[in-house]
Amino acid sequence: MVAKKSSQPALFDAASFPPDPLPWEVAAENDRLIARLVFNRPIDSTFDYLVPDGLRTLIAPGQRVKAPFGKGDRPTVGYCVALAATSEQKRLKTIESILDRQPLVSANMLSLTRWIADYYLCSWGQVLESVVPAGVKQQAGTRLVTSFVCTNREAADPAAFKLSAKQKVVLEILTTAGRPMDAAELTQAADCGTAPLAALRQKGLIRAVRQRQTQSVPPSEPSSREEDLQLNADQQRALDTILGLQRAGQHRTVLLHGVTGSGKTEVYIQAIREVVSYGRQAIVLVPEISLTPQTIRRFRRRFNSVAVLHSHLSDAERHWHWQQIASGGVEVVIGARSAVFAPTPNLGLIVIDEEHETTFKQETTPRYHARQVARQRAQIENIPLILGSATPTLESWLRVQEGQDTLVSLPQRVERRPLPPVIVVDVRNDPMCRRGAAIGRALESAMRNVLRDEVPTHGRQQAGGQIILFLNLRGFSPAIWCRACGASVKCPTCDVTLAWHKDRGKALCHVCDFECDPPSLCPGCGHAGLRYVGIGTQRLEQEVRARFPGTSCVRMDSDSMRKRGSHDAALEQFRAGDARILLGTQMIAKGLDFPNVTLVGVVNADTILHQPDFRASERTFQLISQVSGRTGRGPRGGRVLVQTSAPDEPAIVLAAKHDFATFVKHEWVHRQALLAPPCRQFTRIIIRGKDAERVRDEAKRIAQLCTDTAKTAGVDVRLLGPAPAPVSRIKGQYRFHIMLAALEGDAIRTVWRKVVSQLSPREDVAWTVDVDPINLR
Ligand code: ADP
Ligand code: ZN
Repeated sequence: MVAKKSSQPALFDAASFPPDPLPWEVAAENDRLIARLVFNRPIDSTFDYLVPDGLRTLIAPGQRVKAPFGKGDRPTVGYCVALAATSEQKRLKTIESILDRQPLVSANMLSLTRWIADYYLCSWGQVLESVVPAGVKQQAGTRLVTSFVCTNREAADPAAFKLSAKQKVVLEILTTAGRPMDAAELTQAADCGTAPLAALRQKGLIRAVRQRQTQSVPPSEPSSREEDLQLNADQQRALDTILGLQRAGQHRTVLLHGVTGSGKTEVYIQAIREVVSYGRQAIVLVPEISLTPQTIRRFRRRFNSVAVLHSHLSDAERHWHWQQIASGGVEVVIGARSAVFAPTPNLGLIVIDEEHETTFKQETTPRYHARQVARQRAQIENIPLILGSATPTLESWLRVQEGQDTLVSLPQRVERRPLPPVIVVDVRNDPMCRRGAAIGRALESAMRNVLRDEVPTHGRQQAGGQIILFLNLRGFSPAIWCRACGASVKCPTCDVTLAWHKDRGKALCHVCDFECDPPSLCPGCGHAGLRYVGIGTQRLEQEVRARFPGTSCVRMDSDSMRKRGSHDAALEQFRAGDARILLGTQMIAKGLDFPNVTLVGVVNADTILHQPDFRASERTFQLISQVSGRTGRGPRGGRVLVQTSAPDEPAIVLAAKHDFATFVKHEWVHRQALLAPPCRQFTRIIIRGKDAERVRDEAKRIAQLCTDTAKTAGVDVRLLGPAPAPVSRIKGQYRFHIMLAALEGDAIRTVWRKVVSQLSPREDVAWTVDVDPINLR
């Protein structure tokens, strides 16, 4: 990995300072200043450098510097993480320049990133590089401008200078302003050209300074204000517990377990209210998918300044928000995973909504989980952390059971609205499904019922209820098979079956995005009878349109939502009642609040259940619960139909009964039997390369090293594998994996650090380490 070259010029160049030491500096010759640096390389050590005298007063931990590093001492960007007077390293090199005027990260953020590197087994430099947004490093959206200030020389002796009328005006404006002004501003205010400025400068009465100026400020849309709601008894109890912890000024994690629609968000808002009243800030993490205008509006109506950090921000916008947040000018930061690093100067509370969501885990180095990082940050800053969910993870549930975290529950929906009845439909004997339809008989008749209703309210005719259909397979058909030889048509570079995307007329690989015209002959046996099998959202849409002609329907999946803003537009269309049916993938399963939805259909509950992942049951349970949460939110009530071929599966049966407690107990026994998280800690090592044989051999070698190291160190770390990964090839790279399991994650870390020190980098085989893996493909 090569550190990205900074586009920002060095602000303070060592070379531009006088090389001759001043007398006092000579005297203090032994008094060396040492900067401890880390680099964006997979090497977890710090490197000591001498700070040249000219930079002594300018350097601070948290800044980036340029220093000779690696082969040929190439000038390389590094992060200063500490200053020291002595070093144990011999023959120190010298820093060349400092890149940032101000530290990019605070002392707290330095300790947090250090912790992440330790916990997730990567380097401090890699973490820092990833935590500070590119737009901040480049100071995107700002530019250096030349401005002028008065030197005040004429004040001492006004008679000594002969000034023209215009020059006098310019000088007066500048004096009154009391701040630097650039040429354009100044000439406009004085109604003159640039000649008076040049003259004043020559006489030494004004002086040019270089200043960084923000070019554009994103306008924040004004929102009407709304009062806080009167909490119900359960909400009040939850809030009191949280406020108690806040006032005690202690770190504690609260698990807010509340069924969908129980009013968790209102509790977050009022907990934040208190923090804000002390002049502190709050961070609210939500899954990227839930960063809808609806969510944002809800916070904007309650707080004066809300910053939203989402993935569509330009570098300049991100930089601007970062500055605003760092200056303390933002009360609430809402964002996806990476907002956990928002530079709030005086953080009072962190909230993670939908804490069970897998998108809180980053799938590139550093492979952190925002929940884990938030916990650590809350500990460092001595503040509470709230985790909210209708279906908490077993990991979070375990901590409550062990008394490490505090549980508060909202067992009922607000206004005692009932949770919707969930009907499990066995599609194995359904005549329609057996003929290949997506929608079985029961679901069809439920849909017709909803669509028939035209409910009169308040004397006027209003549209009847609305329907959400959920299916988490995109495309038209998820697989292409050969009738003759039974082989599937695979991606040329990945070990996955191509999916048929009718809208584009292409066969697509969902792993690497490879696309091609659909083959007419089987690549294996040459047979001409290829079949598209399975049902994706595109095919579901076609079926809905055919079976419910004249009923408006919108589809939401990553194919139909590729344009920015189309997501919000589709939701608005549905909200306005311009569409009766909304169908789509995960995108529509979470957080949406449409009181008019009276039917939710889960088209196929089995897609996740059969994945080779020990969390398959838990995910299925979560998904059915989340999807059920999309209905019965208004006075009209609603119900859910779940189509499955495994109607006795506990995850499905218990989700249908809204019985989280029994599900957790059941799942816990299962995990114990498997020796899987959270009963054990897992760390996954993925080994990959172009040559299958070499990858396998290296995987074996690493596994052996792990076994031997664990034995020598006397720690109980078990190995699963090496084995080919479930997706055994991606983009032409063969993949093997090893799972390290132990009661304590630290035992694994001890072993892995020793193993790494014995692994030399290889050209042909690479490895990655994933602590607490979520994605097991
Ligand atoms: P959750 O986050 O648990 O899914 P929300 O906070 O979104 O639940 O609340 C669901 C709905 O109930 C929202 O429309 C919200 O405005 C409303 N609500 C929440 N608390 C109250 C309350 N105390 N009184 C009346 N309405 C409430
Ligand atoms: Zn592919």
